[in-house]
Amino acid sequence: MSIRVGHGYDLHRLVEGRPLYLAGIEIPHSRGLLGHSDGDVVLHAICDALLGALGAGDIGERFPDTDPRYRGIASSKLVPQVVALAREQGWRIGNVDVTICAERPRLAPHRAAMRARVAALLEIPATQVSIKAKTNEGVDAVGRGQAMAATAVVLLEKT
Ligand code: MG
Repeated sequence: MSIRVGHGYDLHRLVEGRPLYLAGIEIPHSRGLLGHSDGDVVLHAICDALLGALGAGDIGERFPDTDPRYRGIASSKLVPQVVALAREQGWRIGNVDVTICAERPRLAPHRAAMRARVAALLEIPATQVSIKAKTNEGVDAVGRGQAMAATAVVLLEKT
């Protein structure tokens, strides 16, 4: 069986006056992620992991913020486009593993909802999606609550 692996990473600054979107769901918090889109680091990392596995560039190249079609677009609208690209090229998603780095809020209560949302966007069972969260132990910009980051690894299988 032919397989491909892809890795994605993203980080956005946390600012006041923005809703917090992670993995395509809104999470109650005093601040949100800054970005031309909704700043959803989880979905951006997943898109980059998929594009990486396909050898198809990155999210900034495929969905440039200079293009009015993508300015301010919800990240949940970008994911299906990348999934479609993978499918067109004859690949199906084996599994996705995500790690979110965020000092607060506590993400454990939202993990099941994030997992279900990512599974729905990727059109795969939730058992093939893993969402993990950790703090940065108070160290660096993420640890000081100035930003959130996420990494994602995806496995593609040839159909
Ligand atoms: Mg991003």
